[in-house]
Amino acid sequence: MLEVVPLPALSDNYIWTLRNERYAAVVDPGEARPVLAYLAREKLTLAAILATHHHPDHVGGIPELLRHGPVPVFGPKGEPIATLTRPVAEGDTVEIPELGLALSVLDIPGHTRAHVAYYGAGSLFCGDTLFACGCGRLFEGTAAQMVASLGKLAALPDATKVYCGHEYTLANIAFAQQVEPANAVLAARLARARALRAEGKPTLPSTLGEERASNPFLRWAEPAVIDSANKYLGARVSDPVKVFSAIRDWKNRG
Ligand SMILES: [Zn+2]
Repeated sequence: MLEVVPLPALSDNYIWTLRNERYAAVVDPGEARPVLAYLAREKLTLAAILATHHHPDHVGGIPELLRHGPVPVFGPKGEPIATLTRPVAEGDTVEIPELGLALSVLDIPGHTRAHVAYYGAGSLFCGDTLFACGCGRLFEGTAAQMVASLGKLAALPDATKVYCGHEYTLANIAFAQQVEPANAVLAARLARARALRAEGKPTLPSTLGEERASNPFLRWAEPAVIDSANKYLGARVSDPVKVFSAIRDWKNRG
């Protein structure tokens, strides 16, 4: 079974470390130091680096990691990441033989132009596109692209574990409760997330089932979410992209 370990990095990033007893692969190493310390402590050899998108808090540690030995660096074909050796896009498979692991690549543009996700072994590594109870900001893509990308992720099985790039869960739930005050799943999530953070533990991974039941950015077809979007806009819309845009805009201002 795949073991996935969160390495906290920078202010609120997680570097997801996939490992067995001898090898490890890291997703989105925004800095090298926590990875090098973990590999040394656990006596593991780095086998691969995966990047979801080009932002420095996701790729900043790659050059330093490569100074300790060459490993394949997978990442989106369509983004400027100087250290990539294995550019990938949807339809490609990332093979990590040292971990007996194969991950499918999904194109999920919106946060950035060519953001990718890696999916396999019941796990989704989705960078800054889908967050626990939230989604990434639109820096390079359109709302229509983001809705299509989030819809693609939402179609994965309920039990899929969601490993996203940041610990934003508590703030995201607080916002989601403004959108859907009566959603009981949100109240339960808030209690659980508060308890985990009080113990200094990550709130991640979540599951796609939980996200579909409570993440306002996946719930553009839900009457309560549409009503809230309409109140925010002072207009009547029901088109998914317009509902999503209203909620995204509301969160950006909040
Ligand atoms: Zn980002």
